Amino acid sequence: MKNGASKATPLPTITLEDIGGLPEEMKDEIHQTLSIIKDPVRATQLGIQAPKGLLLYGPPGTGKTLLAQAIAHEIGATFYSSSGSAFTELFVGVGASRVRTLFQNARKQRPAVIFIDEVDALAGKRKEHGGEESEKTLTELLVQLDGGNDNEGILFIAATNRKDMLDEAFLRPGRIDYTFNVPLPDTNGRREIIDIHTKGRLLADEVYASLDVLAESTSGFSGAELSSLFETASKRAVRDGRQQIDKGDLDFAIDRTILGSTSRALNDI
Ligand code: ATP
Repeated sequence: MKNGASKATPLPTITLEDIGGLPEEMKDEIHQTLSIIKDPVRATQLGIQAPKGLLLYGPPGTGKTLLAQAIAHEIGATFYSSSGSAFTELFVGVGASRVRTLFQNARKQRPAVIFIDEVDALAGKRKEHGGEESEKTLTELLVQLDGGNDNEGILFIAATNRKDMLDEAFLRPGRIDYTFNVPLPDTNGRREIIDIHTKGRLLADEVYASLDVLAESTSGFSGAELSSLFETASKRAVRDGRQQIDKGDLDFAIDRTILGSTSRALNDI
């Protein structure tokens, strides 16, 4: 998404029900946050400020993008999605101008959610970040986030795997009001995610009966890995002309996913 910087999509159809494995207290906090956003007048009467910015952080593939889409859906907002790397340019001023354009476009389509994934590429700590261009881009982001009344009906959501890299100024309340940790799912969470990703797929009885064991034996798997597990198993079944996912398909997909993670881990060394 390097050159276009951002894209707008109307009302994502993802809901909170499509996201498995979120801790209960986090779901409660999200529901509370959404009720404040949906009824700002009542919130003001109670002395609560509607949040302007949220940060979602956690390992890759845990559902941060899904969660941002679900929040946009819940509040009936147009979804402007971009990646931090789309604002990192060699030429001074280009990144800053893209940030401005993104906010200007969103302000024409309120209510709107502006979602920036990998925000660390854009809002990293200044001294580590370095460079005049990135400094200018981050400054522009802070200016836009401080837009006051101009930001009425705009919710900014940022996601990162590297919260520790983010600039303190970016994280200040008023810019980022709530921070949510989106962790790898535990056994129950994996079971919920498996349910979500097996919905609408035909499973052989023995596969269906083994889903609890699958949830227990996939410790460390992200939601994205569980989703790709069933995608891979389905493709293998289709390739072999079967209607249902059988145990061989699932074992094959598990091996593929584990191998994929291992080769990624080896590449990280
Ligand atoms: P990254 O940090 O790499 O950007 P992410 O946390 O934003 O990843 P998503 O892009 O939301 O992860 O997830 C990718 C896909 O994985 C989703 O479209 C969905 O199919 C599946 N997935 C991830 N997490 C979950 C979850 N908690 N529940 C259900 N499906 C999930």
